[in-house]
Amino acid sequence: MKNNHPTIVVGAGLAGLSVAVRLIEKNQPVVLYDNGVNHSSRVAAGMINPLVFRRMNRAWRIDECIEAVHSFYSDMEKKTEQSFFHPVVIRRMFSNEHERELWMQKQPLPEYDAYMTKTTEADDNFKGAINNFGSGRVKNASYVSTSVFLEAVKEYIVEKADVRNEPFDYNEIEEGTYKGEPFERIVFCEGYRGLDNPFFNYLPLQQTKGETLVIKSDSIPENESVNRKCFILPMGNQQFKVGSTYDWDSSDTSITEAGRAAILEKVAYLTEDTVEVIDQEAGVRPTTPDRRGMMGQHPEHKKLYIFNGLGTKGYLIAPLLSREFVEHLINDAPLNQEVDIERFRIKHFPSNQQ
Ligand SMILES: Cc1cc2nc3c(=O)[nH]c(=O)nc-3n(C[C@H](O)[C@H](O)[C@H](O)COP(=O)(O)OP(=O)(O)OC[C@H]3O[C@@H](n4cnc5c(N)ncnc54)[C@H](O)[C@@H]3O)c2cc1C
Repeated sequence: MKNNHPTIVVGAGLAGLSVAVRLIEKNQPVVLYDNGVNHSSRVAAGMINPLVFRRMNRAWRIDECIEAVHSFYSDMEKKTEQSFFHPVVIRRMFSNEHERELWMQKQPLPEYDAYMTKTTEADDNFKGAINNFGSGRVKNASYVSTSVFLEAVKEYIVEKADVRNEPFDYNEIEEGTYKGEPFERIVFCEGYRGLDNPFFNYLPLQQTKGETLVIKSDSIPENESVNRKCFILPMGNQQFKVGSTYDWDSSDTSITEAGRAAILEKVAYLTEDTVEVIDQEAGVRPTTPDRRGMMGQHPEHKKLYIFNGLGTKGYLIAPLLSREFVEHLINDAPLNQEVDIERFRIKHFPSNQQ
């Protein structure tokens, strides 16, 4: 049933836009606030990698995430008449014998069939990067052109909802109204700035700074994304996005010499040639200690919700989690327990038993 009062969504990064789109799909009225200070969704490379290379594992809930990724981004491309979702082959250049062994153990397993191409002699002898231990190709990987996606989806939402380009003021919430206008609920999607939110600052949200470079090179392959210690994503015209760094407790958004040097050091594991640095960016990921999202209802203020903590793989998990979150809001579907902020309630609100 259609509500009369709108859901207020605070933040128009990846999190807020996905939640707003899902609400609009359910014919819910939406008011979207954004202060225009985006330092994560826009800076991100938008890579969608179904594998976690450290242990050569499948990423969390990967089959469900990949299904939602394809349906969400393809659907948004149709609705916005823009192109921002692209398949890409990620080629992992093995760093040592152990890593190669791990890949070889996993690739015959049926659950890896959708995500690993069986290695061939050509992969062993691949010449497009420094190659001492062979390489493996990831299947079902893709990337989102983040700026195009964010602009296009925001423009789409402007047509369907009330978008206000201004900061949200927590002091203006009063008994189910914001600035005197009644609302159904408020969903805070403020990314790393969620720590400033007086209602949800009890949550252990972390700020993880990352830097990326755009480089130019004539020797790096343009038809796939080579990866070892860092990713190199082709952008056309021999330009590549490269990253990223991980500074686990920093909300500083400035680019640094140290960040640039750290990325170039990693690039040197893939090519011996000198590369030209064209651009550098920095952003802050909203991460969590258990590497899961943070979403759900405030334990005391029942009209207030959070959808945050998308972490290092936001573009992979946002389509699935936004769908489940909005099902929870509208149809009372249970939230996945691993992302539900209920897991922090007992520690912070012990008297508030449910
Ligand atoms: C360097 C780097 C590389 C990355 N690479 C990848 C990658 O390759 N693949 C991947 O999947 N993920 C990647 N990520 C992670 C991804 O960017 C995040 O998971 C995701 O963007 C988080 O989105 P968000 O909407 O929660 O936060 P944000 O993008 O920070 O959006 C929050 C929005 O809320 C607004 N806002 C905040 N407070 C208020 C307020 N009080 N009032 C009004 N508006 C407010 C801000 O202006 C902003 O627009 C990367 C991140 C970084 C930093």
